[in-house]
Amino acid sequence: MPSLLNPVIGLLMLRGIVTETEQLTARMRRVRIEDDSLAGLDVRPGQQVRVLVGSGLARRTYSLWRYDPSGAVELCVLDHAGAGPGAAWGRGVAVGEQVRLGRPEGSFTLRPDATHHVFFGEETASVAFGAMLAALPEEARISGCVETETPADRLPLRHSDRLDWLTRGATSLPDAVRRLTPEPGGVAYVAGEARTVQTVRQLLVRELGWNRRSVLTKPFWAPGRRGLE
Ligand SMILES: Cc1cc2nc3c(=O)[nH]c(=O)nc-3n(C[C@H](O)[C@H](O)[C@H](O)COP(=O)(O)OP(=O)(O)OC[C@H]3O[C@@H](n4cnc5c(N)ncnc54)[C@H](O)[C@@H]3O)c2cc1C
Repeated sequence: MPSLLNPVIGLLMLRGIVTETEQLTARMRRVRIEDDSLAGLDVRPGQQVRVLVGSGLARRTYSLWRYDPSGAVELCVLDHAGAGPGAAWGRGVAVGEQVRLGRPEGSFTLRPDATHHVFFGEETASVAFGAMLAALPEEARISGCVETETPADRLPLRHSDRLDWLTRGATSLPDAVRRLTPEPGGVAYVAGEARTVQTVRQLLVRELGWNRRSVLTKPFWAPGRRGLE
């Protein structure tokens, strides 16, 4: 990283040290980052942070899988076939390395008071879903579908038995929405690949009668695009 930028980035960004890594699924690696400056942040389930990856010049966004208010964040990074700097960072980052990251942000977050919660997305979205599901009590009404490349890519999510799990290619996420026909009235959380997010949103609003304000969407990536935020 150019040395002139260091003081500026130091002021704007938080920093931490990688204290744990774990292969959570076939292609998803959990990275735990700790520092006193990460203590007591205002974090809502579903929020994300921007991380400086590679040589420090690329910025990629990752959902908070877990937040420990005593000073630790945990991310889960997918090693996808497109192999950009984010995936390379997630694959190679090691205990002891310093990481620079932004403050938690974003409005793709759990609406705790919703009458029911419906989740649609794929591997990358399941990280944010994991944080949201972990915050929901046993009696919450939960449904939805998560699509992964193979069953070995399924993250261990709380309440995962209330979700349908799809293997990519066998059927599509939009087909799963039609099959599930979630009734309007709750909140739907839709994230992952940009075009699928758009299709699922249209299905919920136009075919199933959902109020568009009750469908929260967040494109996480798109074929051919780099580093969506
Ligand atoms: C709000 C938000 C939250 C996110 N949370 C997570 C998260 O928790 N975990 C996570 O792994 N990612 C998450 N992402 C995606 C992440 O920010 C990066 O886009 C992703 O890691 C790819 O970065 P890259 O540098 O490897 O590839 P890029 O340089 O960004 O992209 C290179 C190419 O790779 C392909 N590609 C990118 N992503 C995928 C994919 N998932 N599957 C197949 N092909 C792909 C595309 O064709 C793309 O053009 C999130 C994104 C957003 C906006």
